[in-house]
Amino acid sequence: MSFERYKYVVVGSGFFGAVIAERIASELGEPVLMLEKREHTGGNCHSVDHAETGIHYHRYGTHIFHTHNQEVWDYINKFTEFNGYHHQVLTTYQNKVYQMPINLETINSFYNLNLKPFEVSTFIEAEVHKSGINSPGNFEEKAISMVGRALYEAFIKGYTAKQWGCDPSQLPATLLQRLPFRTNYDENYFFDPWQGIPRQGYSAIFDKLLASPKIQVELNTDFFSVKHKLAQDACIVYTGPLDKLFDYSHGQLEWRSLSFEEEVMGVQDFQGTSVMNYAEESIPYTRIHEPRHLHPEKDYAKDQTLTIKEYSHSGNSEDPYYPVGGKKNKAILKKYKVEVSGQENLFVGGRLGDYKYYDMDQTIAAALRTYEQIRELA
Ligand SMILES: Cc1cc2nc3c(=O)[nH]c(=O)nc-3n(C[C@H](O)[C@H](O)[C@H](O)COP(=O)(O)OP(=O)(O)OC[C@H]3O[C@@H](n4cnc5c(N)ncnc54)[C@H](O)[C@@H]3O)c2cc1C
Repeated sequence: MSFERYKYVVVGSGFFGAVIAERIASELGEPVLMLEKREHTGGNCHSVDHAETGIHYHRYGTHIFHTHNQEVWDYINKFTEFNGYHHQVLTTYQNKVYQMPINLETINSFYNLNLKPFEVSTFIEAEVHKSGINSPGNFEEKAISMVGRALYEAFIKGYTAKQWGCDPSQLPATLLQRLPFRTNYDENYFFDPWQGIPRQGYSAIFDKLLASPKIQVELNTDFFSVKHKLAQDACIVYTGPLDKLFDYSHGQLEWRSLSFEEEVMGVQDFQGTSVMNYAEESIPYTRIHEPRHLHPEKDYAKDQTLTIKEYSHSGNSEDPYYPVGGKKNKAILKKYKVEVSGQENLFVGGRLGDYKYYDMDQTIAAALRTYEQIRELA
C-alpha cells in the first residue's frame, strides 16, 4: 500500500476525522487516507449488535445525539434517520429511585413534601442558608451553596467522588459552573430541539461517511508506526491525543478513564430505563446502562436483556475518556498548542486533539469549521 501518494491524511475515524474525510472526498474530490489504530471506525461512538442478545449497544458508553445546531442537524441527517428517543436520567440513592437532574419530583420525593413550583426557590434558599456557606472555595462548597447540604450529600457527593476519584472538597469550584436544577416536573435531560438515537446505530453513520471510493480506510494502523511512509508535504488532520503527537515533550495530560462490565440478565427489562446512576460512594460503579431502552422501536428478545456497569478510574492518553483539566493540565496544553500553531499542513482537533469534552454535535460543528480552513488552503 503506497501511503506516499496521499495529499490528505486523516488520523482517527471518530466524528471529527470522519466528517473531515467525507468533506474532502465529496466536496474537494480529493483522495483521503484514513488511519485508525482500532479494529473499527467511529471512535468512541462505535456501536454494535451484542453477540448473545442481539441488542444494539454503544461500546464506549451510552451516546445520545442531541443538538440545537441547524447546520449539524441538516448534515447528520444526510447519513442517518433518528428514532424518537428522549433521554431521561434516574438515580438510585439508598435503594430508592429519583429523577435527575434535580427537579420538583426529586425534591418532593426526597424531603417527603408537596411543594409547588413557586415555593421551591424559597425552600432551597433556606436549605442553603442553613449550610452557612457564603463564599464557596471548592467544588463541594459551591454545590452546597447551590442546592443545600442534604441534596448535595445524597445526589452529588458520592457520584462526583466516584467520577473524579477524589473527595469533591479537593476539586476546584470552577469545575461546577452550573448545576442543572428544575423547579417543575420536567424530566427531559436535554433541552435541545433535536435528539434521538440513529435507527441503525452509530456505526452505520460512519460506514456512510466513509463510503466514498476516494477514502482509503486503514484499520489497525497507528499513525506513529506509518508516519515515515507519508508524503513530506501531506496535509495531516490529527485527532489523537495531543501530548502523544509531540512525544510527551511538555509532559502528559491527565485523563479519567472508564471500564465496562457486561452482564446478560434473564429478564426482559432490568431497570426500566437506559441509564441508571448510582449516587452512593459505597457502590463501586457510577451507572448501569441497559441499551435495549435506546431502541423502543426494535423487537428484541423478551427473555433476556443486556446490562453494562460503568466504572470510573484514573487514566492517561492510552485510554482517555474525560479530560481532567485544572491549572496543571491547562499549562501543559498551552505549550502543545504553541507547537501546533507553528506547523504548516497540520490540523489538530476533536476531543483528544483539543483535550476538551465535546458532545457529538460540537465535534461535528468543529470538524466542519476545520474543513473550511483546509478548503481555503487547497
Ligand atoms: C462515556 C462517554 C459518553 C458520551 N456520551 C455522549 C452523549 O450522550 N452525547 C454526545 O453528544 N456526546 C457524548 N460523548 C462525547 C462523544 O463521544 C465525542 O463527542 C466524540 O466521540 C468525539 O469524537 P472525536 O472524533 O473527537 O474522538 P474519538 O471518537 O475518540 O475518535 C478519535 C479516534 O482517533 C483514533 N486514534 C487516536 N490515536 C490514533 C493514532 N495514533 N493512530 C490512528 N488512530 C488514532 C482513536 O482510536 C479513535 O478512533 C460521550 C463521551 C464519553 C466519553
